[in-house]
Amino acid sequence: MSGRRARCACGELQVDLVGEPDVVVICHCLECQRRTGSVFGVGAYFPRSAVTSSSPYRTYSRPGSSGHALHFHFCERCGSTVFWELELRPQHIGVAVGAIGDLGMSPPARSVWEATRHPWVEFSCELGRHPRQVT
Ligand SMILES: [Zn+2]
Ligand SMILES: [Zn+2]
Repeated sequence: MSGRRARCACGELQVDLVGEPDVVVICHCLECQRRTGSVFGVGAYFPRSAVTSSSPYRTYSRPGSSGHALHFHFCERCGSTVFWELELRPQHIGVAVGAIGDLGMSPPARSVWEATRHPWVEFSCELGRHPRQVT
């Protein structure tokens, strides 16, 4: 099994990943735009057992649009969000694709919250496109 390591900007928060993600998802929601400072977020969803970390982190939780909470884990030193847990998808852990830094990652399969996608953002890969969250 291939192994990858996701890390924050300063390197203090590191997360080890085994194998490939089950799905990679782009999210255009305004909350992801604010959280990342970019105009969309990209998350790789791994089975829980494939994700391990012994680094310190802090957690920002917020209610999702579905009413299920989201828990974003970020570096207490540099602030990068590296991974997160969604009550909506308890069997998975989301990992920020940008934190993995591997151009060999599988491309996204879905694009959600296209209702708030910046109109100039387009992708060349095949995508399932959804105006809101997929439940
Ligand atoms: Zn850091
Ligand atoms: Zn989002």
